[in-house]
Amino acid sequence: MDLRGLSREEMTELVVSLGEPAYRARQIMAWIYRRGIADPGRMTDLPVPLRDRLALLACPCEAVLQRRQSADGTLKLLLACPDGVAFECVRLRYGYGYTACVSSQAGCAGGCAFCRSGEGGLERNLTAGEMVGQVLALNAAGGRPITRVVLMGGGEPLANYAEVLRFLRLATSSDGLGLSPRRITVSTSGVVPGIRRLAGEGLPVTLSVSLHAADDRLRDRLVPVNRRWPLAELLAACRDWARLTGRRVSAEYVLIGGVNDRPEDAARLARLARGTFGHINLIALNPVPGFPHPPPSREAVAAFARQLRRSGVPVTVRRPLGRDIDGACGQLRASSRQGPAAGATNQPPDPEAARPGG
Ligand code: SAH
Ligand code: SF4
Repeated sequence: MDLRGLSREEMTELVVSLGEPAYRARQIMAWIYRRGIADPGRMTDLPVPLRDRLALLACPCEAVLQRRQSADGTLKLLLACPDGVAFECVRLRYGYGYTACVSSQAGCAGGCAFCRSGEGGLERNLTAGEMVGQVLALNAAGGRPITRVVLMGGGEPLANYAEVLRFLRLATSSDGLGLSPRRITVSTSGVVPGIRRLAGEGLPVTLSVSLHAADDRLRDRLVPVNRRWPLAELLAACRDWARLTGRRVSAEYVLIGGVNDRPEDAARLARLARGTFGHINLIALNPVPGFPHPPPSREAVAAFARQLRRSGVPVTVRRPLGRDIDGACGQLRASSRQGPAAGATNQPPDPEAARPGG
């Protein structure tokens, strides 16, 4: 059992079943979410017999296999579970504070052409506790606490619906991480039934769709989930999301040199985006071994963004963070499966070393 994945009600049920008063649940959750301590043995305001019983019942906690700190302040951790499954999480530094990029699965069945998370297929779904654990592990690195979460690490969040929903509830609950839902982004490759279901949960999170192509022929190749739920169905689900939640969906568009970065691609994307997407985030491809196409030139990125803006589509060109530490989705996990990449540093888990700006 993993204490980190339990709601307030479930935690209360657990402590009451152990013959303890209900308020112990609040104490345990304060240890986990306020102090970042999930080990019952260290919860010093609990009676020792309860600590011992909880320690026997609940043994979560991943080991930090690798930790990499980028020159731009990005921190990336590779975590390993007791069952040997590894996954990664990233802390990004923006002007307003820290964002945690959380994995929802170890591996991914999505098979997108340029993504290393999908290379070995899906290993397993992560539990809500393992998603909470990523935020706690990144917070433990020191500095300001994490104030935003993006489910943009490894895996397809909407293919692990139940555990992702549980995580979202814990992330937004005042007993949990206490984040505003508006500060949480769920990124999906386009799992239409998941989008429709999530729209009805009453959780006003930001939804981001990884579009990458504005026609089915190209999208079928780049993002194979498109063969199951083609663009017309995806766009209809996005419009319904906006109608139900009052918030438009954003789109991610990875620019790939000579593949989807030409003026005709921008024109098609602008037509498709109007009335459906509130915002488009453009990001240059982070090159990965085995994917034969290059990142776009700087000029192509600027021209693409300009063309979209002129057509009235709000655009942000995202800075690629953590390039020097295998920043792209799944890269660290993939290189660890093949043994450390040339030049990779295997730093010990030293919390002080990870404090940005010293
Ligand atoms: N499975 C979900 C969320 C995780 S992927 C999804 O696909 O949306 C998060 C984002 O990283 C996606 O937009 C994905 O397309 C992007 N990504 C994956 N590999 C990349 C690469 N090599 N360069 C740039 N972005 C990449
Ligand atoms: Fe999976 Fe997203 Fe990577 Fe596609 S881009 S393989 S859906 S993690």
